[in-house]
Amino acid sequence: MKDTHILVIGAGIGGLTATLALQKAGLKVSVYEAAPQLGEVGAGLTISPNATHALEYVGLGPFMAAKGDKPEAGAGLHYKTGEVLYHTQRDSSFKQKYGAEYYQIHRADLHDALAAKARERDPGVIRVGHAFVGLDQSGGKVTARFANGAAATGDVLIGCDGVRSVVRAALFGAEAPKFTGQVSFRGMVEAARVLEHMVPTPSATTIGPGRIFTRYFVRHRAFVNFVGIARTDRWTEEGWSIPATVDEMLSVYGDFHAHAQAIIKAAPPGKLFKWALFDRDPLAEWTVDRVTLLGDAAHPMLPFLGMGAAMGLEDGAMLGRAFEVASTIDEALKRYEAARKERTKMVLLNSRKQGLIYQSEDPTSMRGSTSGELRLGLFDYNVKTSAI
Ligand SMILES: Cc1cc2nc3c(=O)[nH]c(=O)nc-3n(C[C@H](O)[C@H](O)[C@H](O)COP(=O)(O)OP(=O)(O)OC[C@H]3O[C@@H](n4cnc5c(N)ncnc54)[C@H](O)[C@@H]3O)c2cc1C
Repeated sequence: MKDTHILVIGAGIGGLTATLALQKAGLKVSVYEAAPQLGEVGAGLTISPNATHALEYVGLGPFMAAKGDKPEAGAGLHYKTGEVLYHTQRDSSFKQKYGAEYYQIHRADLHDALAAKARERDPGVIRVGHAFVGLDQSGGKVTARFANGAAATGDVLIGCDGVRSVVRAALFGAEAPKFTGQVSFRGMVEAARVLEHMVPTPSATTIGPGRIFTRYFVRHRAFVNFVGIARTDRWTEEGWSIPATVDEMLSVYGDFHAHAQAIIKAAPPGKLFKWALFDRDPLAEWTVDRVTLLGDAAHPMLPFLGMGAAMGLEDGAMLGRAFEVASTIDEALKRYEAARKERTKMVLLNSRKQGLIYQSEDPTSMRGSTSGELRLGLFDYNVKTSAI
């Protein structure tokens, strides 16, 4: 097993976490990324305790402690009145309750740290400018082909290439992800410009009919990250980073509380984006011989539980653990898929349901409830100790 060479397709948050976990298991890993340079979008990410466990497993515990923001209080707010409908936390007691902290972090900071750690262990581990286009399997070997004409052969291939995964299409046939009828806006503003609007809790989701608006601090309260998710009946544009304007976002959120509107209005020109949300139905199988899937490639989901990246982090850590305990490659891939399929399916299906709950016509129906993540007990999962 120690001579096993693993090809990872996609250097996103999921692919790099898997790389670190596989390196930790003593395996040789080569990562192939389509983009000409490594990078992540300028947005925030919530790292719930279950995701923190995975990052600790791959050695990023100290990084998260140094760079993550810990929200000491969070709430769901009524879109018109600002009334606190429910609390998600009242103090930073997560560590005590779940054994790991809850963090909010800039995506690019986490992505840089994952890549730096993988390169620390192997400076040549990541090859950019390699867009995967196809694969062949025979005699226990996998050969990946890339758009630039290159090819690479290894013992295992892990498709970590996101919601439009080409590896998934190679295994199970091409099928476009489904537009979910949701559009998302995101922006980042300097915190000093909106501090008075970050009330009554530093982290909050404002809930209105067909729309939610979430905002929280990142980079040690230097910036505020915000995300709006709204139902829409049409969408024609493709891409993750389509420029949007303040007026456009206000045309959707114009009846939201003045605090939410003030944060939207503070978005500097060129720093507001929109994109359509897609998901897929859960897959019956993830693995074909020596090729499997991980992260959004395996289970893209709506963001209403804030769990998409967390599932990729858990997958990555669990894949490493599977290779640690198994005595053959086939056994490792079987253990990995068995350990991850039901949990990710449950979270995917509940992410859809949570959208319906948040976006009901009457937000007061959420009075005295809690966030979906807490209701479903998603933070209780610890990838370091759960069965493999
Ligand atoms: C509005 C919104 C808010 C969210 N907020 C949260 C949150 O707070 N917490 C959370 O846990 N999750 C959140 N998520 C989900 C999270 O962003 C994703 O689930 C996560 O980024 C998926 O990681 P990944 O590595 O699987 O895929 P990606 O991040 O998509 O990475 C895939 C990588 O593969 C590369 N690639 C693609 N095609 C190829 C190819 N053919 N060959 C080689 N490389 C290729 C890409 O360039 C990219 O680098 C949110 C999502 C949305 C939409």
